[in-house]
Amino acid sequence: MIEGKTIAKKIKEEAIEILRNKNAFVAIVSVGNNESATSYTHALTQNFESASVDYAVYTLEEHITQKDFDYLIETLENTDYITAIFLHRPLPKHLKEPSLRKDLDNPPCTATAVIEILKAQNIEMQSKNCLIIGRSEIVGKPLSRLLLDENATVTIAHSYTKNLQNFTKKADIIIVAVGKANFITGEAISENAVVIDVGINYVDGKLTGDCDFQSVITKTPYVTPVPGGVGPVTSAVVLANLVEMTSPKKTTQ
Ligand code: NAP
Repeated sequence: MIEGKTIAKKIKEEAIEILRNKNAFVAIVSVGNNESATSYTHALTQNFESASVDYAVYTLEEHITQKDFDYLIETLENTDYITAIFLHRPLPKHLKEPSLRKDLDNPPCTATAVIEILKAQNIEMQSKNCLIIGRSEIVGKPLSRLLLDENATVTIAHSYTKNLQNFTKKADIIIVAVGKANFITGEAISENAVVIDVGINYVDGKLTGDCDFQSVITKTPYVTPVPGGVGPVTSAVVLANLVEMTSPKKTTQ
């Protein structure tokens, strides 16, 4: 089993060391109330406290108008002491994605976390068949680019993909970001495939990923659990991004 918490600890410790000496302030913004955004905010604020980073949490009403939303974002962007804005995505469909100058999730932290996990486990990506299931703007699409940068051969599956099992069986590395509990079973994958489970689902109030973990682990030891897998690494990558945002930009001569 791939221990996300151990990987997160190292990234976090390095970032905390640097951030303690900076006066960083993060505005966390979410629209509507949902369980996964609330627990993500909780994980982020814990990390910020460890790093002596100040923060404010803005939980906006689900039906906020575009005008009110834009006004808040503009105000945060123009407030000098705010270093970064963490906007929970996806936004409700009636809101347009703002282009944020202070975006803490740019590059997208979850996609980066997946790469960090693979690197930390010394899992070779070059020339490997990587299957990403899910093509969202926040996970699937940016991750495809990062995996291509690692010279992987990338396939993206989505709800229109036919015979998904033909792809899962052939993949060396599977990243599943669908949002359906028990979506990937041991039967669907090959022996010793690497399975990174990005999913966050609440079943009877219990947090679970997109994999049927018990059956997947009988086929491969290289699987991230939920909780304790991608989630903590993502929150650690947020801190690492904040380090980047608070560091002076290198200039080329
Ligand atoms: P999303 O926008 O909800 O999209 C889900 C994707 O799954 C879509 O591309 C959809 O295809 C695809 N899909 C749905 N049913 C499918 C099927 N039967 N076969 C193949 N593909 C199918 O996804 P998201 O925002 O990326 O989130 C995915 C999951 O990751 C959620 O559980 C979310 O909570 C979790 N998440 C976790 C983190 C973290 O840090 N751990 C961060 C972000 C998201 P279409 O495009 O065709 O509809």
